[in-house]
Amino acid sequence: METFEQMEEYGHEQVIFCDNKESGLKSIIAIHDTTLGPALGGTRMWKYRNVDEAMKDALRLSRGMTYKSSVAGLNFGGGKAVIIGDAATDKSELLFRTFGKYVDGLAGRFIAAEDVGTDVKDMEYARMESKYITGISKAIGGSGDPTPVTAYGVYVGMKACAHERWGTDSLRGRKVAVQGAGQVARHLCEYLYNEGAEIFITDIYEEKIEYVLDTIKAHVVKPAEIYEINAEIFSPNALGSIINDDTLDKLKCEIIAGGANNQLEDETKHGMALMDKGILYAPDYVINAGGLINVANELEGYRQDRAMKQAEGIYSIVQKVLKKSKTENIPTNVASDKIAEERLQCISKVRNIYSGDSTFRGRLGELSQR
Ligand code: NAD
Repeated sequence: METFEQMEEYGHEQVIFCDNKESGLKSIIAIHDTTLGPALGGTRMWKYRNVDEAMKDALRLSRGMTYKSSVAGLNFGGGKAVIIGDAATDKSELLFRTFGKYVDGLAGRFIAAEDVGTDVKDMEYARMESKYITGISKAIGGSGDPTPVTAYGVYVGMKACAHERWGTDSLRGRKVAVQGAGQVARHLCEYLYNEGAEIFITDIYEEKIEYVLDTIKAHVVKPAEIYEINAEIFSPNALGSIINDDTLDKLKCEIIAGGANNQLEDETKHGMALMDKGILYAPDYVINAGGLINVANELEGYRQDRAMKQAEGIYSIVQKVLKKSKTENIPTNVASDKIAEERLQCISKVRNIYSGDSTFRGRLGELSQR
């Protein structure tokens, strides 16, 4: 598909291709929608097989950011940068400073953060060239590791689901199957354990599980078994696409609430299938918005207490999504998409009001007749 056709299909405003011979940087920055504010999104470094694959990823992910920010009530648009390259071998100070230069050239239309394949250090290099970089370390005034805030958002979102399903948001005695024992899962498990939930955990790396078991008690299960555990809550915190034709039949849970991105392999089909099965699904981008909230807070002068307080708001956002899903009899993921779109439509109307402008932009119109 042609670039413009692709942009039109997803509704993108702008796509920037960056190619720099000296540093080897090949990057695509996709700005989806800036109705709510500057596009904010991560920088993914990946071994894309070709430009097409990188472009598709940038378009899909940046669109997702528009929805995530809108539902979370943040005033940011959706954007994403992808860097074509191997994160294990192709990183350098020059690469990320060059990337920072390109971001700077966008004069604030796009604000970059870290994502898969990039880390705080990379963003610090980029930050040397642009103030439009976030996700830097606490030591130099940044927000640092976002996972405690992400995990807290997942936890309160899970409680909102529990309240909807059982009339109480207490998780004491509830069985929770946690997929993945990474950063988000580790913090989440601490909240669950402290509240008295019974945890079943899995990971493909034993040492990750052991690290989690340093601070909590949990039953350890094999990766393939996690779907079939007789637990009331399934919490995916590892990979995407784990709700699919194969896993759907195995699931015995009543609630799915986890931090992983893109949990539904097919949004339409599997969102509907969960609804038909009577499983309450907390849409991934709603419940894992804590990471975005964290970096957004950095731009206001970071304070973790404020970020945590804001992440706590995910409880009522999930409630709103569940209510809409119930009233309109639609899957929860469709309900959250609608809420995001309604806010965008609504706020775009504010733009119709003229409130003064310091820059003269040819308001006289054309001076000469064509
Ligand atoms: P992480 O890499 O620290 O943890 C992921 C864990 O999943 C790893 O320990 C990995 O070994 C494990 N894993 C991989 N494949 C597995 C499998 N088949 N079965 C079981 N475990 C498997 O990542 P994270 O930062 O904890 O993020 C977890 C998820 O949450 C990701 O999908 C991420 O995109 C999403 N997310 C994270 C944040 C954040 O703040 N870090 C924010 C929003 C969304």
